[in-house]
Amino acid sequence: MGLFGKKKTDGTTSTTGGMTGATTTTTTTTTTRATAGWQVDCDCGFMLRDHNKDETVQLTKTHVKTSHGQTITDAEALKRARTVTF
Ligand SMILES: [Zn+2]
Repeated sequence: MGLFGKKKTDGTTSTTGGMTGATTTTTTTTTTRATAGWQVDCDCGFMLRDHNKDETVQLTKTHVKTSHGQTITDAEALKRARTVTF
């Protein structure tokens, strides 16, 4: 009556990933939601923000002209603008 054959407890943890519809959808949506835009701070206190560079330039030029009576070039207007994230 000897114990025959030791019960081999093989630690095979059933790694049969259950088909229980556990859909682990790792949606790595890297949403770089930081909106970049342009900001212009005028000496007079006027501030404008725009997502469009060309628009920023235009608005800056318009402001400088209407408020300060100066005509500046696109490059000069752009110089007053800086990129910001909002
Ligand atoms: Zn101004």
